[in-house]
Amino acid sequence: MRIVDVRGTTVTVPLEAPLRHANGAHWGRFVRTIVEVETDEGLIGLGELGGGGESAEVAIRGLKTYLVGHDPFDLNALQFKIMNPTASLYNNRMQLHAAIEFACLDLIGKALNVPVYQLLGGKLRESVPFASYLFFRYANATGEGEVRTIDQLIAHTADLKKRWGFSTHKLKGGVFPPDYELSCYQALAKSFPHDSIRYDPNAALSVEDAIRFGQAIEGLRNDYYEDPTWGLNGLRRLKSFVRIPLATNTVVVNFEQLAANIRDLAVDVILLDTTFWGGIRACIKAAHICDAFQLGVSVHSSGELGIQLATMLHLGAVLPNLTFAADAHYHHLQDDIIAGGKFCYRNGAIAVPTGPGLGITLDRDKVAEYAELYRSLGNYPYDRDPGRPTWFAMVPNRNWADPEKQEDPCDGPKGGGLE
Ligand code: MG
Repeated sequence: MRIVDVRGTTVTVPLEAPLRHANGAHWGRFVRTIVEVETDEGLIGLGELGGGGESAEVAIRGLKTYLVGHDPFDLNALQFKIMNPTASLYNNRMQLHAAIEFACLDLIGKALNVPVYQLLGGKLRESVPFASYLFFRYANATGEGEVRTIDQLIAHTADLKKRWGFSTHKLKGGVFPPDYELSCYQALAKSFPHDSIRYDPNAALSVEDAIRFGQAIEGLRNDYYEDPTWGLNGLRRLKSFVRIPLATNTVVVNFEQLAANIRDLAVDVILLDTTFWGGIRACIKAAHICDAFQLGVSVHSSGELGIQLATMLHLGAVLPNLTFAADAHYHHLQDDIIAGGKFCYRNGAIAVPTGPGLGITLDRDKVAEYAELYRSLGNYPYDRDPGRPTWFAMVPNRNWADPEKQEDPCDGPKGGGLE
């Protein structure tokens, strides 16, 4: 089997409401690139890349000189062709490689008529549990969905729990002052006393803010305390003050950093991302290293549609040491581009697909619909806040949003892009 073509199609899929975070916001939709790798046998493997537009599609097309004639089974050679670690100093192709690896695993599974988890040694669980991923939100274009006050946060959590069955809740913070977010987090713990909770301010807190916040939540049912402050050294200093496992998806995202963290421990739980780490297989390798050193692993979400979610499900299915609910933005989406509609949560978990390859197929009408929506709306800057047009993120942040103020993101640049 040989690859004959590779192409990318940018789509944008609406969210229920704009999601706020420490660096800005997801402006009411996700922009993703659907990657298709076609073989001489007529099979098409699916991959997915964060972001999109002309540059992403050109980058995908640019891989043709490496991929045409390549056998999708040759995954080890693929890695060196696309992201040789020294060549990567000049061409960071980690995430491109991930998208192509997903597609090649999909092709191998389709060629052999087995699911990807079977290629990875077989599944250890039938479904993968997920956390509710709680964001402070702007109201959507119809004026609904705002999450800013404690009452709104608790009502939103209760709604997600009722709809999808979550028993783990992750609060994405770093938006409002730490003392306000502490009150929100403590209210979550009080309102859902039997559920596990985790807090992630995207490294926006100073070490001292993080110490004060962390000491205040000791004793709650914390899974872990995720990237409260920036950097391995900041986290290591925090660790000497706070008795909660620390987690990261920002400063241990490759094997160099994983080795550094093991030599001089800063972080207890490593969040694996099938995109950031360069593929499903790299995540499995990292998970095995973590297992050897008794570090925890969890699964990170970088904002997925159904293709990437499938990679997370196959990863989650085969990791023996996955003891935490995985993260997904998925339930914030209004729709998906896979045939049959969105994956469904049952009791907070999603069943691992059992069809050949990744176990999903594209809904071509949906891809066309959301590619057209992208052409009409274009991109948006992830690191700008449509409700605060002149604001920009600092690390550590000292310029928090005002929890008393109901900003209107539609007043922002380009009308907020929140259509
Ligand atoms: Mg995080």
